[in-house]
Amino acid sequence: MADDLYTRYQHAHSAWRTHRETCPACQANQPCAAGQPIHDRFVRLQDAYIARQQNRR
Ligand SMILES: [Zn+2]
Repeated sequence: MADDLYTRYQHAHSAWRTHRETCPACQANQPCAAGQPIHDRFVRLQDAYIARQQNRR
């Protein structure tokens, strides 16, 4: 089975990182209107990925 969750997590992470690099509000942990959904998606996928890793132990 392809590791689709991991791929989506990595894409969400790079999207968030790319946005934050150019956005002072997001760098100050005050996500802007554009950054909020990108950050939410990254956090959701990160949580799902970590939870799955722990379930595998
Ligand atoms: Zn932003």
